[in-house]
Amino acid sequence: MKRIFMFAIFALSATLAGAQAKYIFLFIGDGMGFGAVTLTENYLSAPKADKPGSGTLTFSTFPVSGFATTYSASSWVTCSAASGTAFACGSKTRNGRIGVNEDATENFTSIACRLKEKGYKVGITTSVSIDHATPAAFYAHQASRSMYYEIAQDLAKSGFDFFSGAGLVNPLGKDKQQENVFNLIEKNGYTVVRSLADCKSSAAPKLLLLQPEGKPQTAYPYVIDKSSDDYTLANTTTLAVEKLHNGKGFFLMVEGGKIDWASHDNDAGSMVREVVDLSDAVSVALEFYRKYPKQTLIVVTADHETGGLGVGSGENSGVSVLGLTRQKVSVDKLTRRLEEAPISYSELKAWLTENLGITISYDDEATLRNLFAQNATPKPASNDTPCKLKNTGAVGKSIMRMASAKSGGSYNTFDHTGTMVPVYAIGEGSELFRGKIDNTDIPKKIAKAAKIEWK
Ligand SMILES: [Zn+2]
Repeated sequence: MKRIFMFAIFALSATLAGAQAKYIFLFIGDGMGFGAVTLTENYLSAPKADKPGSGTLTFSTFPVSGFATTYSASSWVTCSAASGTAFACGSKTRNGRIGVNEDATENFTSIACRLKEKGYKVGITTSVSIDHATPAAFYAHQASRSMYYEIAQDLAKSGFDFFSGAGLVNPLGKDKQQENVFNLIEKNGYTVVRSLADCKSSAAPKLLLLQPEGKPQTAYPYVIDKSSDDYTLANTTTLAVEKLHNGKGFFLMVEGGKIDWASHDNDAGSMVREVVDLSDAVSVALEFYRKYPKQTLIVVTADHETGGLGVGSGENSGVSVLGLTRQKVSVDKLTRRLEEAPISYSELKAWLTENLGITISYDDEATLRNLFAQNATPKPASNDTPCKLKNTGAVGKSIMRMASAKSGGSYNTFDHTGTMVPVYAIGEGSELFRGKIDNTDIPKKIAKAAKIEWK
């Protein structure tokens, strides 16, 4: 009897406190497994002292943490489309599908659409293109993630309030023969802005914030390569919150899309900076949470792990993450250097020392020399023979794998893996995310926190 009474008091006080998640943030680190989080926190400790340590990402201090399984309906190793569909719509599907069932005969309803129906404003943001798999899973229904034009048409019809990302991949369709999809987007009431200042000053009710024309529309530059006028996830998150904040509530999804891209290229130095970029965006949400602690829920997770990243390689007693702090450029800039002009073996070694901050050891020398000789034309007569390299993408990735391993980041694949991913939560309803869950539980738990029925 006493217990029932206590429970009633608890339930009553929860109701009186208005216990409902009204402002909901979902952060997705694409490809951000436990290895990525650990290596980034190691990296954050590195500038302070050349001693082992661990820094702190904003989200790793959250009071609730757990982990999620990520397998898809067709594979133990998911892709971003199937996992996006799982944590947006609460159902498993085959790799490659966006917001539809396994045989693409049924459309799922995402948590974003469900909240929109209840009067929440919705924002979908990413550091890659907004028609990419993860953001698309919240608003699109397509049999294949590569149907970028059709996905953009779904975006136009979504009715969501705020989008931001690099751009659209195929606004004219695959064959460049279709009507510009931006016409449909604008016809449906959206204003497209291409600078942070224009976004800030716009009073338009529905906005798409994209990179300026002339910048790549596929993704923001890697954080490590950015110039001061490039967008960060923190400043687009700040703008999203400004635009979405209203009395009825909002749902904002923020994707750190290039954690995955850097991991596919086994570029740990770029990857850790992308994780920090996501963490800085989480700090914006945390600031908001401090103003509205009883009405805000922040969830941070990943769609899958990428790269099979472990911390440690070879002679572990000598592992140091300091090399990550010395890296100045991403794999993109390395590949561009390999493509743009002939390079000799000596020049390559010097370039790597200067830009990746690595010293080529006796063992590395054998790997690097082999890689160079196999891809060089003409066959190098000496270390100083300028050569044109073929397979520059693959050569760049192999060099990055070697450089990352020297800083303690050992990758075992250039693809995704099926290991569980971390989940962090704070705020109203955060307790629901404790312990082991499946990625399909995520939208259902968000719905529960928002007190909406999941049918
Ligand atoms: Zn990927």
